Amino acid sequence: TEQVKLQVNSLFIAGRYRKLVRNIPQSKWFCSNCHGKGCKKCDGTGKMYSESVEELISKQFLEATEGENTAFHASGREDVDARMLGKGRPFVIEILKPKKRFLDLKALETAVNMHANGKVEVSNLRFTSKEVVRRLKKAELAQKEYRVLIEFENEVSEDALRLLEEKLSGVMVKQQTPLRVLHRRADLTREKYIYKVKVKKVSLRRALMEIRCQGGLYVKELVSGDDGRTMPNVSDLLGNKAKPLKLDVLNVIINDCAR
Ligand SMILES: [Zn+2]
Repeated sequence: TEQVKLQVNSLFIAGRYRKLVRNIPQSKWFCSNCHGKGCKKCDGTGKMYSESVEELISKQFLEATEGENTAFHASGREDVDARMLGKGRPFVIEILKPKKRFLDLKALETAVNMHANGKVEVSNLRFTSKEVVRRLKKAELAQKEYRVLIEFENEVSEDALRLLEEKLSGVMVKQQTPLRVLHRRADLTREKYIYKVKVKKVSLRRALMEIRCQGGLYVKELVSGDDGRTMPNVSDLLGNKAKPLKLDVLNVIINDCAR
């Protein structure tokens, strides 16, 4: 007998997500020990973190479409310990082999947000195409706005913070791949432009810094200096060792591609 293969096109839905709590990775992160099989280290889950943005969002899409699987595409990613605030980060969810294609996206948005229970929130859901996934990846380098809480080793003056604003605004930063990601990224030097920096003192040794920069800048290393691998940096500019305590992405500035 002859087999008839039926190809079912994927369904693509675009939107934006906000991550309102820290310590959730964007995508499923397999246990470094067992690589997903499940072991003692990961409590048998096979994962480093019990949930991810991808998983929190995908479940409802899969149920609503009765699809086989999903793939999650986003325009860049925030660190696991960083929140994603503001209008959120653009993403596209691809549903493989969906049985249902006609969805009430408003109802789906509500269902996803109920399920994600204040950890993750989606908005602006709309049907889109594969082409947009490609453009989404390209837009990784779009401008971003960050806010980072900095702790200094020594007391910091208002004058020092004004100097910081001056020295870091309109500046090209040279950044060698951070030590913390060197095990999974090539050792390269990148140049990233900072448009504007604003700093506000919040206590004797702490300040809040807002940065608008080219996407892909490693903000934690801009603060610490990463052993001189990021130049210029906050620690060196002030001669006062600086540590990033909390990082938030405030805005991902891109046009939301085509509808
Ligand atoms: Zn494991």
